[in-house]
Order: sequence, then C-alpha cells, then structure tokens
Amino acid sequence: MNKPVTLNRLGEAASRFVASEKKLYIDGQWVAAENGGVIEVVDPATGMVFDQVPAGDTADIDHAVAAARRAFEEGPWAEMTPAARGKLVWKLGDLVEEHADELAELEALDNGKPVGDARNGDVAFCYELLRYMAGWSTKICGETIPLSSGAPFHAYTLRQPVGVCGQIVPWNFSLMMAVWKVAPALAAGCTVVLKPAEQTPLTAIRLAELAEEAGFPPGVFNVVTGYGETAGAALAAHPDVDKITFTGSTEVGRKILDVAKGNLKKVSLELGGKSPMIVFADADPEVVIPAVGYGIFYNMGQACSAGTRLYLHKDIAETVLEGLKAFAQSLVVGVGLDPATQIGPLVSEEQFERVTGYISAGVKEGATLYCGGSQVGDTGYFIEPTILTETTQDMTVVREEIFGPVLVVSIFDDDGVDAVLKQANDSIYGLAGSIFTRDVSRAHRAAAKLKAGTIGVNTHHVVDPALPFGGFKQSGWGREQGHEAILLYTEVKSIGVAL
Ligand code: NAD
Repeated sequence: MNKPVTLNRLGEAASRFVASEKKLYIDGQWVAAENGGVIEVVDPATGMVFDQVPAGDTADIDHAVAAARRAFEEGPWAEMTPAARGKLVWKLGDLVEEHADELAELEALDNGKPVGDARNGDVAFCYELLRYMAGWSTKICGETIPLSSGAPFHAYTLRQPVGVCGQIVPWNFSLMMAVWKVAPALAAGCTVVLKPAEQTPLTAIRLAELAEEAGFPPGVFNVVTGYGETAGAALAAHPDVDKITFTGSTEVGRKILDVAKGNLKKVSLELGGKSPMIVFADADPEVVIPAVGYGIFYNMGQACSAGTRLYLHKDIAETVLEGLKAFAQSLVVGVGLDPATQIGPLVSEEQFERVTGYISAGVKEGATLYCGGSQVGDTGYFIEPTILTETTQDMTVVREEIFGPVLVVSIFDDDGVDAVLKQANDSIYGLAGSIFTRDVSRAHRAAAKLKAGTIGVNTHHVVDPALPFGGFKQSGWGREQGHEAILLYTEVKSIGVAL
C-alpha cells in the first residue's frame, strides 16, 4: 500500500493507530468482516490510499444486532444502575479528552479538515457532549399523573430505554456525528450498533477502542464499518433493531424510511440543509463578515447547517461583499494536518466533482463568479472558497444542497424586506438560518418566522450539547442534543395501580 506524505505529520499515537489492523467491534471482540471484504481509506489531501477497514455486510450486522440484543435484555448492562451507567459514559468522555490530539489528527487525515478545527471543534464537542449526556443518566424519570376519569388508580409513567439502536452517520463530522448519537443512547440505557461512513471510518473504530477501555460490557457498543447500500441498509431494515437514527442526505433518509418500515422501528433523521443568512441594512459589517464567512466556509462548507444562501440588503451589499471576498481569499488552503490550514480538501473525488459541477451549473444558469471557483494545486481535492452573486431563486445552486465552500448571494432592497423571509423559507429544507440586524424587534420577529430548527441572530452556527438540533421540513425528524435527545432514545410506559 502506498503511503501519502501527509502521514509524516501524524503524532506517535495516531501513527500507531493507522499502522494497526482495523477490525469490526462486535460483542466486545475485534473481528474481520465475515466475507473478508475491505474498504480502502483515501487521504483526501493526496488522493492516495493509506489504510483499509473491513467491509462489514449483512452477516456482520446480524451478529452485531444479536450481541446488542443480548446486552440489552440480559447481563450487566440491563441490571446496571443509572448512576453506574452515567459514570461509564463520563469515563468515555474523559478518555476522548485524554486522546483528543490523536483523535483530531485521525479526523484531519481521514476527512481532510483542519486539525485545529478537529481538535477544538469536533473532538472538544464530543467529550463535552459525553459528559452532558452522562449527567442525564440519573435524571431520566416518569411522572405521577392525577387521572381525569376519577378511576381509583394510582397512575404513573416510566421512561425506559427504547432498546437496540442502529446508528448510521456521515463523513463530514464523523466522530462528532457518532458521539451525537452514541452518547444519549448509552446514557438512556440503550445498546448500539454504529455504522460510520465508508469514506471516514477511522475515528469510530478508535472510539470503540476507548469504549472498551472505559469498561462498557460486551455488546453494548458495536461498530460495523461498511458501505451504506450493504451494511447500512441491512441495519436500517433489521427486524430486531428497535430504533434507527440516521444523519446524512435527504435522499438516503428516504431509503432508510422505506426499509425501516418492515418492523415499524422508531426512526429519527438529521438530513440536508440549504440554510439562509439574511443581512438587513442596519447590520454591523464587522459582525456580519466573519460570521457569514465562517457560516459558509467552516469545514469547507461540508456542514449540514452551513449558511449557503446569503440575502443581502442593497445598502450594505458592497461593503459586505468586498469584506467577504477578502475573508475568503485570506483563508489558508492546505493539508488538514498542517496547523496553519483553515480550508482543507473536500472529502473525496466524488464530492470534488459534485461541488465543481454545481459551480459550473451556477455560472451556466447566469450567476456571476465573484471569487474562487478553481481547484487549488493538482493533487487532492482542494477547491477555493467560492462566492456566486446575482443568483435567483430558481437556480439550481440556490435550490439544491451543494455541500461545499460555495456561497450564493442575492440582493434585496427596502421593497423586498417582507419578501426576503418568504424567499428564505422557499426551500424544501429547514435546518438552520440566521439574521443580522441591530434591531431587536426585527431579530425576534424574523427568528419566529424562519422555518428552521436552529436560528442565529448576529451569528450563524449555533450548536451546543444542551441545545436541541434538527430540522423542519425535509431536513429531518426529531431533535438531537439536550433533553430532546434523551426523549429520542426512550419510550414512555403508563402504569395504573388499582387502589
Ligand atoms: P449519505 O446520505 O450519502 O451517507 C450517510 C451515511 O448513510 C453513510 O454512513 C452511508 O454509508 C450511509 N448510507 C448510504 N446509503 C445508504 C442506504 N441505502 N441505507 C443505509 N445507509 C446508507 O450522506 P453523506 O454524503 O455521507 O453526508 C452528507 C449529507 O449529510 C448532507 O446531505 C448533509 O446535509 C447531511 N448531514 C446532515 C446533518 C444534520 O444534522 N442534519 C449533519 C451532517 C450531515
């Protein structure tokens, strides 16, 4: 196997992990895929293969689900007190923090993202979320309910873990998306079969090693690497999975729903987005420019909640556009493992083709290429931060999720202030949105009107372990984070005791 030069940038711990043989983690054992298949892991900075992981398939999913079922129904996990469970989840958080530099390097290598963002964004979020969810373990409870009928019952509810959970995650924040699902599921007492994206499987495997070290009983947390159409589909369709949670594209979300209906398993979905950012004339350009810049270019635009559509009032347009161009051109494009890098490569050749295809389509449909648009260097999947102006609502680049560093801009004037909210809401998606203004009333009114799960005022990305996150419309079903996530992984049972 060829070794790309970026591997030289890894620290000792990450190098050791990359050099190790990768296996599936099922029932507390490390095993090869039953059919012996493997998936090659590609460095997006060079396009070179540097590792391989098992291509788990239906048989491996069957084993993992059976192990998760046993662990859920019998054995130490089923008997464990909420406090003991919470301590294990907290311990996993401690181990993630202890190995944060290594995990960040693995994520930067595998996905291409800047290692500083991986360390201070993705990985830091993971250990804080694990601790936040660990705290919920001891606070999951039902209610005592006075009955309306006057029946002589003592009535109460129990809130209990939903059972065996299949969890399928994407490549854009691989470890973080895994922990978004694993942390509340384990805190609630469920057992888990996790399937990471085939493009970025490394950190999920490392997470399983840390879970083993933390002391989770066998079968509680299982990881099966594999392709979506095989391992992912088998997990979503499995008759003994009680709940499937999925983060990824809206298109695959529909496929998951189709196959999940067999046993009517519970389904929650975090899907695509095309989030608007609205800048009113009174907004402060010094706030707007970096917030909008990071709103679109963070993680190379490969963020479900990225602010991809900018609606800009004409009175402030020139200042903001010039500032955004300078911002975009100042970003350091480079290998994710270089600490100076702010924009890494896109995750794969397929993603590179998709994003450059959208830029060409935008220009063909009449948008103006205001800056960027070209490949950077001739190896790997690097692309300049790009801004398309003079876009209209009917253009493909305004309607479809590009999932790359491409901002589409349209200008409104005083006559269009009401219309702009309508335009912002004119999308099949509703994941996030933001409003920039110094007028408090306008900010609250607009925040209430935008049809999206998360709204920023004078900022864009608003994500926190305690704050529910998820989509309106075709951006998904259900909310992750906060107490809402615990609700996703529990069922309510009503009990009446005749007195
Ligand atoms: P994707 O839908 O192609 O893949 C996501 C996961 O689904 C992968 O693990 C993949 O192997 C698996 N998969 C693919 N086909 C499957 C099938 N038929 N059955 C079961 N599993 C299958 O998405 P992607 O390209 O990896 O990620 C990008 C998408 O994810 C974007 O649309 C983005 O908006 C979305 N996303 C959403 C959120 C959110 O919270 N709403 C967060 C991150 C990413």
